[in-house]
Amino acid sequence: AVLLGIETSCDETGVGLVRVGADGPELLGQAVASSQDEHARFGGVVPEIASRAHLEAMVPTVRAAFARAGLEPRDVDAIAVTAGPGLAGALLVGVAAAKAYAAAWDVPLFGVNHLAGHVAADTLEHGPLPTPALALLVSGGHTQLLRVDDLAGSITEIGTTIDDAAGEAYDKVARLLGLSYPGGPVIDRLAGDGDPAAIRFPRGLTGPQDPAYDFSFSGLKTAVARYIEQAERDGRVVDVPDVCASFQEAVVDVLTAKTVRAAVELGIGTVVVAGGVAANGRLRALAQQRCAAAGLTLRVPRPGLCTDNGAMIAAVGAAVLAAGGVPSGPALTGNPGLPVATVLVP
Ligand code: ATP
Ligand code: MG
Ligand code: FE
Repeated sequence: AVLLGIETSCDETGVGLVRVGADGPELLGQAVASSQDEHARFGGVVPEIASRAHLEAMVPTVRAAFARAGLEPRDVDAIAVTAGPGLAGALLVGVAAAKAYAAAWDVPLFGVNHLAGHVAADTLEHGPLPTPALALLVSGGHTQLLRVDDLAGSITEIGTTIDDAAGEAYDKVARLLGLSYPGGPVIDRLAGDGDPAAIRFPRGLTGPQDPAYDFSFSGLKTAVARYIEQAERDGRVVDVPDVCASFQEAVVDVLTAKTVRAAVELGIGTVVVAGGVAANGRLRALAQQRCAAAGLTLRVPRPGLCTDNGAMIAAVGAAVLAAGGVPSGPALTGNPGLPVATVLVP
């Protein structure tokens, strides 16, 4: 079966075409349009701008995905769309478009969870996910440790950030340093020229009394702000690459340490790192090193599949379809606060 996936939860309009196979979903073609540049001067996503951009980009992006896959609408057997979590207006555009296509082509529609999509992205590259698996989901809005027993229906949160998400910390620190939005890719690049041991920034929630599987990044962001302020008061020039490398080391040190600890303590042998921050070079390298040392198998999708896209939504749809999931009803609507445990929305 061929699935069309539609993603509009934030500032990427993503459309992907995927074939459901025994070896997992196969990516046939995809297209992504981003309104990122329109938000850059505001330092973060402006919901109204994102909704309008989705509206304008939807039809051309669907056409581009079909062209790249060499397919036509009549080849589509089912549609999967992001039903949440995300921005209300942005989700609405995707769900409305998906309903219209499903009605016009007379195919079933599945409203699915964006976060399950980030995890499912890995199956496009590495095949079916062995379960149980432990997923570290690190994105612009989320930082969670998830126990995945079934990608199509059973995902349990075992830890989460108590304040900022990891990607949000990257974006805020980039702003403090006067760098462009989104901050993750810029800091990732600049950190390559810096010394990760130059400044010892705090590792949040790593004390003996702290919750083992939860995260905190707002103290780290404040520490970076203080460091910059102090340097300015002292008349010192801030070494931007050193700050980037040291900040990044603090983030990925905590992320990888807690993930490996959770996998070992819960007896889970497979670790997946997913979400936009999983594109980070240092996170990928340190996760690989620490998982190997602990005897864990690590799976990370290629960077292009880590950030928001429609193929990952089609990949969840593929898992749901293979598990015999019931299509969503005509009342399907976007849910900005959809919990990660709800993979398929009725
Ligand atoms: P969510 O998935 O939680 O709803 P989102 O969809 O906005 O949020 P993603 O698109 O998954 O988030 O990821 C975007 C985030 O990833 C941004 O915060 C961005 O700075 C960060 N990011 C992207 N590339 C990198 C990188 N190479 N290093 C670190 N962070 C990165
Ligand atoms: Mg985005
Ligand atoms: Fe996302």
